[in-house]
Amino acid sequence: MTNSKEVTGWNFDNSYARIPEVFFSSQNPSPVSSPEMVIFNSPLAVSLGLNAKELNGESGTAVFAGNAIPKGASPLAQAYAGHQFGHFTMLGDGRAVLLGEQLTPSGERFDIQLKGSGRTPYSRGGDGRAALGPMLREYIISEAMHGLRIPTTRSLAVVTTGESIVRETLLPGAILTRVASSHIRVGTFQYAANWGTVQDLRVLADYAIKRHYPGIEADGTNENKYLLFLQEVIKRQASLVAKWELVGFIHGVMNTDNMTISGESIDYGPCAFMDIYDPATVFSSIDREGRYAYGNQPYIAGWNLARLAETLLPLLHEKDEEAIEIAQGAIGEYNDLYFSNYFAGMRAKLGLFNEEKDDETLIKDLLNIMKEYKADYTNTFRALTFDKPEDTALSGKEEFQAWYKNWQERMNKQQESKEASQQLMRDVNPAVIPRNHRVEEALEAAVEKGDYSVMERLLSVLANPYAHSPEQEQYTTLPEHTNIPYRTFCGT
Ligand code: AMP
Ligand code: MG
Repeated sequence: MTNSKEVTGWNFDNSYARIPEVFFSSQNPSPVSSPEMVIFNSPLAVSLGLNAKELNGESGTAVFAGNAIPKGASPLAQAYAGHQFGHFTMLGDGRAVLLGEQLTPSGERFDIQLKGSGRTPYSRGGDGRAALGPMLREYIISEAMHGLRIPTTRSLAVVTTGESIVRETLLPGAILTRVASSHIRVGTFQYAANWGTVQDLRVLADYAIKRHYPGIEADGTNENKYLLFLQEVIKRQASLVAKWELVGFIHGVMNTDNMTISGESIDYGPCAFMDIYDPATVFSSIDREGRYAYGNQPYIAGWNLARLAETLLPLLHEKDEEAIEIAQGAIGEYNDLYFSNYFAGMRAKLGLFNEEKDDETLIKDLLNIMKEYKADYTNTFRALTFDKPEDTALSGKEEFQAWYKNWQERMNKQQESKEASQQLMRDVNPAVIPRNHRVEEALEAAVEKGDYSVMERLLSVLANPYAHSPEQEQYTTLPEHTNIPYRTFCGT
């Protein structure tokens, strides 16, 4: 290969390939006929230590299409299991390969994964491929999440394959290059617990600790390091899901295979952002019972973490009963962790610097009024930020006027100035989110007409959602009223 490090910047070290082979299958991506790069994330490439100019051309296209394997890569498909809508099953990368782990100039390690790169031993009946629309959708949403300062996998590139894939109709095929601090999932642990030995499980846990929670190893105390690990994952997930709730993000498929050990959001399938505030909001066409509704996400995260805790039992204590007690103790902390993250975030959204006993009521009252009058979640907080209550759907409503007065009184009680509160609110209440109609508009232009300019503009606005700049104004409007509820599809 001519891809020497000096030219392209690839600097692979593949630690996952060194854990026991039960956890993966070596697998090259399957080449495609005529790949074309349609979007490339130069700033991300640079932060990874890659030569953006070089890769945003033929050599990059070949790699991101799976037609060339960069030097030092060691492609593999990862094995994992998972509870899908509550049902446990064996899964694995059925349409993805991990090329390898890129070491960045600052010493960080990131998985470089191709999604839609062909069949693997875990494909079951699937074709191993992905359609252009859903891959662009993941690109947009993951980059929007990053802009919102929410831990997430990132998107480096999308290439079209030049091949059609068969779904309900024929669709253009594409491959997404996904960057993650790792792809180890709750489902990876479930796989180890069900199909591996206890020793395999221990190796996986030690590996995950070393990679994501090195502080535990360095800690040096004699505390149960697997308990510390479980507690840390619980902490990160409690923080992550609170961040989702605070911006109105609905993941849509919170299966245990779609929950990372690193605490990054992963797998943007049928996800979408809530417009009108309603905890029952569900967008995914396959989530018929609303298992993954906006208001359920915090509880589902707790449920998923309990599944993680179960897998760790053999490592937590040699005696079953004691292991169960330890695991329950850790899981028992999740609710408080989640709510303290959530309410801290909500207080900031309302410009409150300290905590007072009636704050929860103040917050819940506002949300109830928003639900009652079908107020847009993002725009309501935005209007409060700029003290323009008249811009909300709540304007003139008696309950809201009473609430507003309470809120003002509560703010006046704190030491900080009104300006400081407003600054705090500007920093945490986004001006823009990837609104469903805007995402659809961008995807339609790209997929139907090959026009990526709509998507590029949307991405540039979403890159800095807390800017509150004039050009963001046009992205804050709601879609024309329609009686057809917005639906998202899994995109497999
Ligand atoms: P997801 O819904 O993307 O989290 O995927 C769930 C499981 O289905 C994973 O094991 C995927 O690898 C697998 N899968 C999804 N789409 C395909 C496909 N087109 N071909 C093979 N496997 C797939
Ligand atoms: Mg998945």
